[in-house]
Amino acid sequence: MPARLLDGRAVARTIRGEVAEGVASLRRLSLAPPKLAAVLVGDDPASRVYVRSKIAACAEVGIRSEEIRLPASAAQERVLDAVRRLDADPDLDGILVQLPLPEGIDRVQVILAIDPEKDVDGLHPLNAGRLAMKLDAPLPCTPAGIVELLDRSGLPIAGQRAVIIGRSEIVGRPLAMLLMHRDATVTVCHSKTRDLAAISRQADLLIAALGRPAFLRGDHIREGATVIDVGINRVDDPALVASLFGSDSPRAREVRERGYTLVGDAHPREAEARAGHLTPVPGGIGPLTIACLLRNTLRAARARRRPPAA
Ligand code: NDP
Repeated sequence: MPARLLDGRAVARTIRGEVAEGVASLRRLSLAPPKLAAVLVGDDPASRVYVRSKIAACAEVGIRSEEIRLPASAAQERVLDAVRRLDADPDLDGILVQLPLPEGIDRVQVILAIDPEKDVDGLHPLNAGRLAMKLDAPLPCTPAGIVELLDRSGLPIAGQRAVIIGRSEIVGRPLAMLLMHRDATVTVCHSKTRDLAAISRQADLLIAALGRPAFLRGDHIREGATVIDVGINRVDDPALVASLFGSDSPRAREVRERGYTLVGDAHPREAEARAGHLTPVPGGIGPLTIACLLRNTLRAARARRRPPAA
């Protein structure tokens, strides 16, 4: 039986509705709605699309936003200055720096410059440490979105054998922490993992977050497993797209008309044939990442508008 597709767009819509309600309740208290700043350095086309979607999503739920654009040639100090200015802006609740940053800019220094209270991506070491210690913290958006999707789809986490492929700071590592906190038994694989398929085949819950189009094949997946495909890869090779989706498919047409299509880290046909549940790409984890960013922005705004303790 083909996998049941998990509708990330629908769950994201529900979360956005909850955030819109939270923003409205701030307004009812005559408090300013949240405000997010998105910093985009360079002109990576995918990053431009992500920032545009995030800004549009803010408008939809009543969150104010601004976009700060810097050229790819901007010196590190200029990026740090921009972040420090946003830190100091009392009207601003959340700062997101779109990753990856162009070569020559030290991502860690930029993340360290963000005020932890405005760190809506949950990447600052203080927030990563709070997450590790199970303290209240803004949760990194993609891992938080994955957990929301599982919970709201009624899929269990506790006691599940979870295998995560990818150990990045924004996805694999914080996701491992979140799933561990929820009592899953977690294995994290990466590029040096030996015999990956033997490990991934043990997973009840298999998360692919490696950034390699259609990497996860049928023999990586246990029959009936839940497969969460985090990957968003732009593929412009018509032959590859034809082999994945068929030469007459809408995807093949998309490549001819738009120049590329988005492919996940799981082989679409093989994953669908083996998995019990599967997230599509697009329409799976991407919309949830944005919804959780909005939620983190609301969270930051609420914390910053809390009256000081008497
Ligand atoms: P990174 O490049 O930062 O990390 C990739 C990870 O995958 C690394 O840990 C790397 O291992 C591992 N890896 C790479 N190749 C292999 C391999 N052949 N076998 C096993 N492990 C491998 O990527 P990100 O975490 O930033 O992103 C991963 C994917 O998720 C991308 O496609 C990205 O576009 C997408 N993404 C999607 C989001 C969404 O909202 N849906 C949000 C964020 C990312 P090592 O550590 O050894 O190098």
